[in-house]
Amino acid sequence: MTDTLFPQPPSPIIPVKGLPGFPVARIFCVGRNYAAHAAEMGHQVDREAPFYFTKSAHAVLPSGQDMPYPPRTADLHHEMELVVAIGAEAREISQADAMDAVFGYGCGLDMTRRDLQARAKEKRRPWDTGKDFENAAIIAPITRKEDVGPLGGLKIQLRVNDLVVQDALLSDMVWSVREIIADLSTLYTLQPGDLIMTGTPAGVGPVTRGDVLHGTIGDLDPVRTHIV
Ligand code: MN
Repeated sequence: MTDTLFPQPPSPIIPVKGLPGFPVARIFCVGRNYAAHAAEMGHQVDREAPFYFTKSAHAVLPSGQDMPYPPRTADLHHEMELVVAIGAEAREISQADAMDAVFGYGCGLDMTRRDLQARAKEKRRPWDTGKDFENAAIIAPITRKEDVGPLGGLKIQLRVNDLVVQDALLSDMVWSVREIIADLSTLYTLQPGDLIMTGTPAGVGPVTRGDVLHGTIGDLDPVRTHIV
């Protein structure tokens, strides 16, 4: 073992039902992947090509834990999303083969400091401080793809304090999981451990301390957190 100056930061591990945990490598996120959400943010979807941003593995908060309200924001937003867990290397993979790279699926929350993101957009600066910060990627346990039926018919919903605020079908996605993986694999060599957050439906909004978030997609394990 190589000596290090301080302990190597641990890779977050997401539970998988009946199997060892899924160690997280990179987190890719798709922007504007539901037309109604793009519209609520004042944009149209771009059918030319999907676009991406990233979060670091250090942004992961396992579902079920409290999320401390983060610093330097007064407008923390929820974005409920389908998370795709990659289980095999994929580089320039075809759409026909793209699903071979999938290990499984989970529910996730792309937590966003919307005020910082808005300021960055205005000044044409990167989104990192709005999107990639501690506890900003809340990830539920992963279900193997073999145990999940066809995705398109599944309902994606988020409840804040028992009130449904986001409600759509996965078939509402502009870019399907297959298309996203094929495209992303032309930019990066996808590796086991990578996660893809596939974008949020309409209904994003602010949360405050005391709120309880509960997100579901079909029969996948729900994602939960309590803002403190
Ligand atoms: Mn998002």
